[in-house]
Amino acid sequence: MAQIQIKNLQKTFSDFTAVRNSSLILEDGKFVVLLGPSGCGKTTTLRMIAGLEFPTSGQILLDREDVTYRRPRERDIAMVFQLFALYPHFNVRENLAFPLKNEGLPKAEIHRRLEEVAAILRIEHLMNARVGGLSGGDRQRVALGRAIVRKPKAFLMDEPLGTLDAEFRELMCVELRRLHDRLQTTTVFVTHDQNEAMALADHIVVMNGGQILQADTPEGIYHFPSCMFVASFIGRPSMNFVPIREAVLQGQDVIQVNGAPVEVPRLDETCSQAVLGIRPEHVRMSDSGPVRGEVSHVEYFGSHWIADVQTATGRIKAVSPKGVVPAVGGHVGLSFQTERIVMFNKDTELLLDSA
Ligand code: ADP
Ligand code: MG
Repeated sequence: MAQIQIKNLQKTFSDFTAVRNSSLILEDGKFVVLLGPSGCGKTTTLRMIAGLEFPTSGQILLDREDVTYRRPRERDIAMVFQLFALYPHFNVRENLAFPLKNEGLPKAEIHRRLEEVAAILRIEHLMNARVGGLSGGDRQRVALGRAIVRKPKAFLMDEPLGTLDAEFRELMCVELRRLHDRLQTTTVFVTHDQNEAMALADHIVVMNGGQILQADTPEGIYHFPSCMFVASFIGRPSMNFVPIREAVLQGQDVIQVNGAPVEVPRLDETCSQAVLGIRPEHVRMSDSGPVRGEVSHVEYFGSHWIADVQTATGRIKAVSPKGVVPAVGGHVGLSFQTERIVMFNKDTELLLDSA
């Protein structure tokens, strides 16, 4: 069990900064997901935590102890790679025992740990099978077994489900979460897939351009995104943005949105204009809603339809009411659930705090 802290972490490759001044505390026992688009610095961050890469500046602390320049094996944390380095000619038992023999554990202890891990992962029946002949899923489970058998202080996983097909990925998500609930070992899991992040995480850390933009619970990230990037990266389809120039120009602190007052957070010289953000499921669509528009496009999401409505203030996406299939070209009215509105500074794209 371990708390992992990164402090002002920076990594520069020649003149390119892959990770920029990142600070974060990963609490003991939590499942933390680093989420962001390709190239945003997730792998580099993880490799620095693992000790596979040294930072240009900044610190990494494991249980408050500085491990920044320690080698990987001196950190007692396990990295689970996407391409599992199992020994195909060994059987499952031998693969699982390998890291323990390396550590010089006594035979009886190795036996006890193997039994325990086999039971946790439900691979008792595979212990004598050759790894080369296993299905992808069983192999994945063995790889997980190899990581947990050492009882490390933390697990680091870099897109471990990346190569799996959708159905199997979902199964492995459930498996991983169950494993974490049982072992409660601090886990840092990297992915670019928001669904994986939402399904697995206690805390999500959203990154972009080498920077940490927000660290919060999945609900916090979804409902109170710290900036417009997070708001559009999380949730499908992404949040609607509507500029509200007039209110700001007139210095109002309350504006009328479809007849209801909405408080505008205090604006200062850093903010010349505000942008209203609202998720499609918080826009009501009806015949009589106050914001009029024409349906330009519809998309089916299985449980509901989303209509793309062209209004005077731009395109707004709205979830269609239950049982109503929106017609392209039809005229509809929209109303916003005003309590769900968030506001951003148009210049910095940061959330405007109403405090
Ligand atoms: P992610 O895992 O989020 O896709 P990475 O951490 O792998 O991103 O990479 C972040 C950026 O740093 C990318 O632009 C990548 O090209 C660059 N980068 C990563 N490793 C190196 C390296 N060893 N040398 C030069 N550039 C690198
Ligand atoms: Mg990566």
